[in-house]
Amino acid sequence: MAANKTLLILPGDGIGVEVMTQVRRIVDWFDKRRAVGFDILEHPVGGAAYDAHGTPLSDEALSEAMNADAVLLGAVGGPQYDNVPRDKRPEAGLLKLRKEMDLFANLRPAMVFDALVDASTLKREVVEGLDILILRELTAGVYFGEPRGIEVLADGTRRAIDTQAYTENEIRRIADVAFEMAAKRGNKVHSVEKANVMETGVFWREVVTALHREKFSQVELHHMYADNCAMQLVRNPKQFDIIVTDNLFGDILSDCAAMLTGSLGMLPSASLGAEDETGRRHALYEPVHGSAPDIAGQDKANPLATILSYAMMLRYSFGLLDDADLVEKAVQNVLGAGIRTGDIVGPGMKAVSCSQMGDAVLAELDKLAA
Ligand code: NAD
Repeated sequence: MAANKTLLILPGDGIGVEVMTQVRRIVDWFDKRRAVGFDILEHPVGGAAYDAHGTPLSDEALSEAMNADAVLLGAVGGPQYDNVPRDKRPEAGLLKLRKEMDLFANLRPAMVFDALVDASTLKREVVEGLDILILRELTAGVYFGEPRGIEVLADGTRRAIDTQAYTENEIRRIADVAFEMAAKRGNKVHSVEKANVMETGVFWREVVTALHREKFSQVELHHMYADNCAMQLVRNPKQFDIIVTDNLFGDILSDCAAMLTGSLGMLPSASLGAEDETGRRHALYEPVHGSAPDIAGQDKANPLATILSYAMMLRYSFGLLDDADLVEKAVQNVLGAGIRTGDIVGPGMKAVSCSQMGDAVLAELDKLAA
């Protein structure tokens, strides 16, 4: 691993700062023990950047994000910014970052750790060992399609319109990511749409099928209607490895899959941009949760979602599959030893702090690497 890869760390606000402190300790551990070295840059983002620079994303932070090999973000937001103008709000900084980096592929893994099987609302046998990845198209589809709006008709009644639209390139590039990832996982992709009732669904299926035939025929490909997929996710989620779908269906299905795992404090995510001519792509890794103002500053947050986001970074931006496995294994063992933060604590267990959870993961990494 060359030491000249650049990692930009954006801790953000609230518990973002606390969980990122623990991740920095893990990054340092890899730097010392495994020669996984990064040039690390750090900037405030969100409310912290507004306080420091009067904007939730400074030009410098944005430019460094565009040049970095990967960006790791904590969380942004907080009630103290509720009355700040909309374009200066913490969330505006994050949206601008995602837009400028053109992050069209959102990856949300749903992984059930053995020790947390009982935190799921589903039966043990349905979720035990679950490890699936939802790949959602993030920059097109009905959330962006034109025309949109609410209009008054000739008879004085009103009508609302949204437009679902996908170009061939938009479908191809997300399907391409899905097939590429399949090679690093279980080699199976379910492409999900509503080809039975939507033109975009028919087109989606056609484009995915053509790409599969052209470049990825070694990957097992299934097509599924979105309504059936929602049903199958709660009936038999282990049939899936990768689900690739559009913006709207991905929004709904990824939340559904997330709940199979039980806790918000455990969920990592990644968002990827297009490959440039050198094969490099913009990438942003972040936990699914927000800044949790209710527990911020109390050293109570669960840092595992962000630690698992770092593992995703090792896997998807740097191809360091063994190191990513090592982080995930350490997390699994820590949970297996009954070490839990407040959000995932079971009956009769004592909750540890955010920093104690960091200590436990580091101790486990030491043990696994010994
Ligand atoms: P939240 O995810 O911050 O918190 C929801 C609940 O889950 C809270 O009770 C919180 O204590 C708990 N929780 C979340 N993460 C946890 C963790 N790691 N460990 C332990 N408990 C955890 O969502 P919210 O309360 O709706 O939003 C709070 C702020 O975060 C808002 O300003 C919102 O805009 C922002 N937000 C930011 C992001 C992001 O940065 N990507 C995402 C969602 C919300």
